[in-house]
Amino acid sequence: MSIVSKTQKTEDKAWQKILSNAITDPKELCDLLELAPDIFDLLSHHDSKISNFDLKVPRNLLSRMVKGDVDDPILKQLLPVQAELLLNKMYTKDPVGDVDAIAGSGMIHKYHGRLLIVMTGACAVHCRYCFRRHFNYLESSFSIKQMHQITRYLQQHNDIDEVILSGGDPLSVSDQKLQSMVQLLESEPQIKKLRIHTRLPIIIPERMTRFLVNLFSSTRLKVIIVFHINHANEIDDSVSVMLNKLSEARLVLLNQSVLLKGVNNNPDALVALSEKLFENNIYPYYLHAMDKVEGAIHFDLEEEEIREVYHQISMRLSGYLLPKLVREISNKPYKVPFFS
Ligand code: SF4
Repeated sequence: MSIVSKTQKTEDKAWQKILSNAITDPKELCDLLELAPDIFDLLSHHDSKISNFDLKVPRNLLSRMVKGDVDDPILKQLLPVQAELLLNKMYTKDPVGDVDAIAGSGMIHKYHGRLLIVMTGACAVHCRYCFRRHFNYLESSFSIKQMHQITRYLQQHNDIDEVILSGGDPLSVSDQKLQSMVQLLESEPQIKKLRIHTRLPIIIPERMTRFLVNLFSSTRLKVIIVFHINHANEIDDSVSVMLNKLSEARLVLLNQSVLLKGVNNNPDALVALSEKLFENNIYPYYLHAMDKVEGAIHFDLEEEEIREVYHQISMRLSGYLLPKLVREISNKPYKVPFFS
């Protein structure tokens, strides 16, 4: 075994170990964060309706949360609470019309020229407002055996020039699986761009192994990494070091955020986020009005508040730091600008 492959193996094990040791018991999380016991009245206690989407918090993330603060913006995104059980017919299991756009196992074809591949249902964290929290990953995830189906689909749709790896989190899969995917896409001359939607390296910076950075920087495809960061506190020094490696590798780095009540629905938080992203060579791309997914009513905002917050940040941020405010509407062939 070569020295390089040993290093590779060690780096691979590092992030996988952090992931496998993630906290899954809300009580343990609350104890470690020294939260007052009355927090337990708010917790969901693994109700069967949401039990397939339990708490998941890698331990390294705790250092970015404020001890004793039940309103910590990172904690709020991840802690299952009873409010998730509130039902309202406006909030559905498939708010963005994924099911109608399934083009084959692991493939979602919704927008012109782009094919989305659901690499996996696994993520580093379970974001409580996730629009795919009810998605049937068992039926509709990619497996290595389906490579030929993707090839065939691309050849039948030669207007597709961009592939988006999504999930779950596409970087939850092994470097080898990602390499196979990159090789498949490279072998199709029509594919020019590879977009990766991920949160994993923000949660666990060790995920960006040297192998992975090299894979993305050496392919002929133009690689665009779209992170999902909602609050400036998610970027600490370890994340900055990882991001610096990506910008040195000349990858395009963008960010999309979701506007969430209690997390970032104030101009100061959003301005700080855009500034922090820019310090780390990431351009703010989208600010999404939350998708109306069942289980996330408590994060949603009134339209008027959304407009007002966006108006406030528009007055404070340079144009290149202002993310586009959009919402996704089922069966629309593009993200719809909020002000349209
Ligand atoms: S990381 Fe993305 S896909 Fe995974 S739970 Fe969060 S929002 Fe959903």
